[in-house]
Amino acid sequence: MAVMINDTCINCAACIDECPVEAIVDESDNPTGEEYYYVYPDKCVECVGHHDAPACATACPTEGCITWDMPFTADHKEHYEAGNYIDGKNYVMDNADADMPFVDSISMDERTARKPVVED
Ligand code: SF4
Ligand code: SF4
Repeated sequence: MAVMINDTCINCAACIDECPVEAIVDESDNPTGEEYYYVYPDKCVECVGHHDAPACATACPTEGCITWDMPFTADHKEHYEAGNYIDGKNYVMDNADADMPFVDSISMDERTARKPVVED
């Protein structure tokens, strides 16, 4: 993906208009059925080419709410399809050749651990 929003989200809407690629939807459009905001991994570019850091996380007032996840690339197809996505819900990658931009300074260990994008 990219980044993901977890269940500490308070649905405040601070992030949604900050996204340069309209990857974020509100709780009413969350495709997982959860009652909080959601980032489409196949749209998120981790703000590469737009900002120095993910703009959604910079705007978010909730500590630890937006975390790193794996890059949305073909290398991580299994991650997204194996139930690692949004607390066990599978994500079907329509495009097996997915190759979304990602921040390469964030390690795979940090992504696996879902490190908060912004840390105090
Ligand atoms: S990291 Fe950037 S592109 Fe991804 S959801 Fe947040 S604001 Fe949008
Ligand atoms: S800014 Fe943070 S708390 Fe507010 S809606 Fe977005 S993810 Fe949720």
